Amino acid sequence: MAPATDLARLAGEASGCTRCPLSASRTQVVFGVGDPDADLMFVGEAPGRDEDLQGEPFVGRSGKLLDRLVLEELGVDRSRCYIANVVKCRPPDNRDPRPDEIASCRPYLTAQLELIRPTVVVTLGNFATRLLLETDQGITKVRGRAYPMGEWQLVPTYHPAAALRSGGVVVAEMRADLVRAKQLLGWGR
Ligand code: URA
Repeated sequence: MAPATDLARLAGEASGCTRCPLSASRTQVVFGVGDPDADLMFVGEAPGRDEDLQGEPFVGRSGKLLDRLVLEELGVDRSRCYIANVVKCRPPDNRDPRPDEIASCRPYLTAQLELIRPTVVVTLGNFATRLLLETDQGITKVRGRAYPMGEWQLVPTYHPAAALRSGGVVVAEMRADLVRAKQLLGWGR
């Protein structure tokens, strides 16, 4: 079966998910968006208010910054990538996702990785990085290099919300991480 068909079926299944308490407060499930055959995948934390309303990851202020940095450093727009989150439903009041919520949602992310089979996964912030790298260390410690994960490579970087809060140095380091991803993808050579 083509990945696009399987992904669409999985998104359909997820749209009625009640595996965790976030299902009670969400407007809709924010499953993921982009090219089902993408070589480059981004994984964020959880939908915020804008994403919950629009049903698409990273459409708010963080998303605008991500789009801009991806365009400037990789020369592509989001339609060339696949974008998903660790948790597919918005935590109330934008609180951190809880361990039980992350565990309940994990099979969706695992299936997305298996179907899309990206070459490079850029994890945005601590939640995605800790989950996929299976580490307790924070993003500041682990970023700055790529991690081979079998068939793909993980490039950890800051969450764009951290870049919005902190500015200069964090944005510059995010740019460097995206350049690392670009090199691993063999883009722009
Ligand atoms: N922050 C995230 O981690 N994901 C989104 O989709 C939006 C904001």
